[in-house]
Amino acid sequence: MMPLSLPDWYVFFLIANLSVVFAATLYYSVRRYRRMPRRRAAPFIFRCSVCGHVYLDRRSVPMAECGKCGAMNENVKSF
Ligand SMILES: [Zn+2]
Repeated sequence: MMPLSLPDWYVFFLIANLSVVFAATLYYSVRRYRRMPRRRAAPFIFRCSVCGHVYLDRRSVPMAECGKCGAMNENVKSF
């Protein structure tokens, strides 16, 4: 065992504590980043003015194409 003077022990404990804090910070920040759920965009409801088909689109676009007839329609309600 190598003898350490008081300042060496002080530096050793300081570095040990700082690395523990740093590791904990790194761990929790990475975990939060991984666990962050992807916010699902609220779907927009579209009703086709040509065929009456009601459909959803999650994109934030002013108009979406009808899946049945292909007409472009404005969204009715978003929630
Ligand atoms: Zn349609």
